[in-house]
Amino acid sequence: MIVIMMPGTPEQEVMSLKRRIEDKDVRVSVTKGDKYYVLGLVGDTTAIDKSKIEANEHVSRVMKVQEPYKLANRLFHQKNTIIDVSGNTIGGDKIAVMAGPCSVESEDQIVEIAKSVKESGASFLRGGAFKPRTSPYSFQGLRESGLDLLKIAKEETGLPIVTEIMSTDMIDRFVQDVDIIQVGARNMQNFELLKELGKTKKPILLKRGLSATIEELLMSAEYIMAGGNENVILCERGIRTFENYTRNTLDLSAIPAIKKLSHLPIIVDPSHAAGLWWMVEPLAKAAVAVGADGLIIEVHNDPENAKCDGQQSIKPERFDKLMKDLNKLAYIEKRYVYDPLRV
Ligand code: PEP
Ligand code: MN
Repeated sequence: MIVIMMPGTPEQEVMSLKRRIEDKDVRVSVTKGDKYYVLGLVGDTTAIDKSKIEANEHVSRVMKVQEPYKLANRLFHQKNTIIDVSGNTIGGDKIAVMAGPCSVESEDQIVEIAKSVKESGASFLRGGAFKPRTSPYSFQGLRESGLDLLKIAKEETGLPIVTEIMSTDMIDRFVQDVDIIQVGARNMQNFELLKELGKTKKPILLKRGLSATIEELLMSAEYIMAGGNENVILCERGIRTFENYTRNTLDLSAIPAIKKLSHLPIIVDPSHAAGLWWMVEPLAKAAVAVGADGLIIEVHNDPENAKCDGQQSIKPERFDKLMKDLNKLAYIEKRYVYDPLRV
């Protein structure tokens, strides 16, 4: 961090600020220029509140040299983080595909879809039990009985399950029954929830907020990691822009940006990004091409009668074809989507 003082600031004011910063265990070098002093802060500046320094009447400008997140930062952790969920990796050479309906609707529905996505090579089953809906009159999910049905689908197929948590009071149940806990876009900055999830060791799928910057997403990951849980998977799911042809705008540039800034795996959700079933395939391919570590895709056996997000759900046959194409695409980059020799 660099602090530029106002021209003409008396030396004792500069030294007093220097001492206050040094009290936070940060070294400070003072440079006297022709017109003003410049302070260079060296060391771990995470405990320094930039806005407090800016509030000092003798300070002209404060500039951050380093990002405010530490545990999620690639600078301090060069190697990619690979998360292992019962033998299924996210962040390595394998492109992890999570597939399933937007919401769990019935035992037959979830078990049938789970079997078919498994057959196509998906490594995780997705399905919402608790649904964050814009309208309180829309289907809110089967809630706890939805978790029971996901468990049945897991027992039938062996697929680990990914499902969304909405409040801290469900954490114990999720830790017991869920393999990857999803924090949805609307809860990306629910800091109390993030802190509590940080106390668990469960892999967390953290989706980017509707209007969140890349830095805000990484700061939310930092909340979970600061609590002791470093198993965070990031997810780009489209952001809100002025464009309204698609439900959101898929920010593909976030993938290489996050790869540069962080060691955490990042996956893409082409379903919520576009909100249109026929765009899922090209966007999923684009995500693999820009280096995403995985995909989360909505698949429904009867999209027209789906209780939620049918318009963006693809049918199992289309998903099967997509998986074959993705595997070919991944091969070019010496990666793979599923083991072609799988039984
Ligand atoms: C979902 O995955 O069903 C979902 C609600 O996603 P998002 O939080 O990205 O809107
Ligand atoms: Mn959905």
